[in-house]
Amino acid sequence: MPDRWNSISALRADWVFPGNRPPVRNGVVAWQDSELIYVGPARGPFQPRDTGRAAILPGLVNPHTHLEFSHLATPFGQPGMSFPDWIMQIVQAQRASVESAEAECEAARLQETRQAGLAECLRAGVTCVGDIARQPWPAAGAAVEPEVTVFRELIGLADQRAEAAYQTAVAFLEQGTRHPTRRPGLSPHAPYTVSWELLQRCVALAKQAGVPVAMHLAESPEELELLASAAGPFVQRLEELAAWVPGTLPRGIRPRDYLELLAHAPRTLVIHGNFLLPDEWDVLAQHAETMSVVYCPGTHAYFGYGRYPVAEMLAAGVRLSLGTDSRASSPDLSLLAPMRWVARHHADVEPEQVLRLGTFDAARALGRDHLTGSLEPGKRADLAVVALPAADFSDPYEALWAEDTPVLTTFCRGREVLDPCRNLE
Ligand SMILES: [Zn+2]
Repeated sequence: MPDRWNSISALRADWVFPGNRPPVRNGVVAWQDSELIYVGPARGPFQPRDTGRAAILPGLVNPHTHLEFSHLATPFGQPGMSFPDWIMQIVQAQRASVESAEAECEAARLQETRQAGLAECLRAGVTCVGDIARQPWPAAGAAVEPEVTVFRELIGLADQRAEAAYQTAVAFLEQGTRHPTRRPGLSPHAPYTVSWELLQRCVALAKQAGVPVAMHLAESPEELELLASAAGPFVQRLEELAAWVPGTLPRGIRPRDYLELLAHAPRTLVIHGNFLLPDEWDVLAQHAETMSVVYCPGTHAYFGYGRYPVAEMLAAGVRLSLGTDSRASSPDLSLLAPMRWVARHHADVEPEQVLRLGTFDAARALGRDHLTGSLEPGKRADLAVVALPAADFSDPYEALWAEDTPVLTTFCRGREVLDPCRNLE
């Protein structure tokens, strides 16, 4: 047998879900080094390891989280609280933590938390992540970890803070991420923390550097009230934090205005978009090649918002994907949980579309769909192996979504990251 067979790895499962074509019963996935070479029925020269009653999925892609909150056992505050109250609690906790620790300790603590978050992502079958980072990541990393787009968080309403945030962005892009599996992006945080001028400058900078932009937008009714009338609970909360600057946002501005500006970035992830209107979906649909919305069902439910218009936005041509958001407003970093939640609560969304929302479409949101997000020869061997229920289901998607079966193991660029609790062998 030629030597090259020694470097080929293969897995067999009852079902393989390539993501870009129908599921394959009794399927095999094979790869050499980090690259897929075969995805199809169990035949041919491969001697696959058998995963049994399991499904092999493309590695899941989580385009929105804040890994710096990965140490939280439960979300901040109480379910159903108002969003401005929640964000104020977060800011106060962050300020207290920074004041109580030396800068160096704080940086070390942040990084430990992020690494714990990445480990949780791998256990959840996630191999590609979009992370919002208050501080840059250090160069060090684990031997195998998900690819991370590090979106540097930028905050500044007042002129001086906005200028400092812009200089932070420039320095961050000049320095790069200093790690082979991390890439830079910018995150002007949200309309209530970023001046219009800072956002304009960030978009121009992203365009010049060719990096993606992620921005929280139309997340709460209070945000819309702030934009429409420069009044309401957000102004009160920002005043309490000494962070409100009257006149910093153009009066009567709408999320649509933000979308039209963000459309100039090379790639944009609109985070949440819970309260966007159909004419704003149209803007997103017109720019579907470069703009995506990331719906985070855990956070959406935490604040008690109504039904998210998944099917309606998809029908309008909006590129949608699913994210977990952080543990500050979501129970954990499992992406399968929100995928299953959508599959069970949105009967008007096709089950194969649900898989794409957490794989291919999420990879496309990050601009990584040429490398990952579906199982195709030539792409990376990023795989999630998920247990299937003992009961028989006539439809493989039903088997995948019906019960909360666990992720058994994850392969990241061809290398296995075993969960010691759930070793297959
Ligand atoms: Zn967020």
